[in-house]
Amino acid sequence: MIKQPHILLIYTGGTIGMVKDIDTGALKAFDFNSLLTKIPELRLLDCSIETISFEEPIDSSNMCPKYWGDIATIIGDNYLDFDGFVVLHGSDTMSYTASALSFMLENLAKPVILTGSQLPIGDLRTDAKENLITSIQMASLQIEGKPVIREVGLYFEYKLYRGNRTTKINAEHFEAFESLNYPHLAESGVHLKVNKEHLWKPKPNKKLILRTRMDTHIGVLKLFPGISRPICEAILTSKLIKGLIIETYGSGNATTEAWFVKLLADAITNGLHIVNVTQCAGGRVNMGQYETSSQLKLIGVISGSDITTEAAIAKLMYLLGENIPRNNFKTIFETSLRGEMS
Ligand code: ASP
Repeated sequence: MIKQPHILLIYTGGTIGMVKDIDTGALKAFDFNSLLTKIPELRLLDCSIETISFEEPIDSSNMCPKYWGDIATIIGDNYLDFDGFVVLHGSDTMSYTASALSFMLENLAKPVILTGSQLPIGDLRTDAKENLITSIQMASLQIEGKPVIREVGLYFEYKLYRGNRTTKINAEHFEAFESLNYPHLAESGVHLKVNKEHLWKPKPNKKLILRTRMDTHIGVLKLFPGISRPICEAILTSKLIKGLIIETYGSGNATTEAWFVKLLADAITNGLHIVNVTQCAGGRVNMGQYETSSQLKLIGVISGSDITTEAAIAKLMYLLGENIPRNNFKTIFETSLRGEMS
């Protein structure tokens, strides 16, 4: 007899877990222990579900590496007992968490699906039920007793994406996420359609390793016309910073002003890891394509290729946390570790 998939639902907070108080009309946290009573549809799913909740659910604006570590640890502690994991999370920083978890869960070979909603689960027009139910179905998909999804995914509004490829692009639409540089992994229509060729294939028979050390001595500098020298200087000469993402124009271009290039070159000589990520939502960094990026290549700026800023932040924290030696850092950053870049 084929065993029903066993799914662990991890509730961290966010809009999805809210219901309206009938008396006051105010939104309040939903008691996840009574999930099955409140959403009877879950009983129709062909899987068994257990739930675990953050003691104090949070708005995802308060998400941080400590909580990422808590989620990764819950998954690690329960890894052998469950076939899949669904993480309920506020949508605002869900792409950051999905990216961070992808690095923290080395050799992951089971589904970890993040989802949330734009409207609370208790709202009449909520998107929460579909997102929750289909995420559980995605996490339950198996072929010959083996999970189909073996990576960190993000499910929202009928699409499953690779989590570390996503960005929240809309604060109001139900279709709140995009993955412009990588095709979606699955789609929910009348049937669940999985794009098998795009799924992550983990190395076989490797043990899950938790990598929860994240070094937060990093920064993001978004370039804009008129960016001032003293402000760049303050950031690039700070003794606190170990890694910096520069969000450049187009295919990785920046001003060719001599002071700017020299500041970057000196910072790199002094040990700062500088990563070039484009401000464009889609496309990739290609240093050397234009004169305005040739210098960056020459001085040793790391190419972020088509990585999102969210994934670059998580990857930088992760590699710094792992104390990757300086001479390997650029090569490792420029290598796709969890399918986060092409
Ligand atoms: N502010 C909420 C959060 O990210 C929004 C949401 O849940 O979608 O926690």
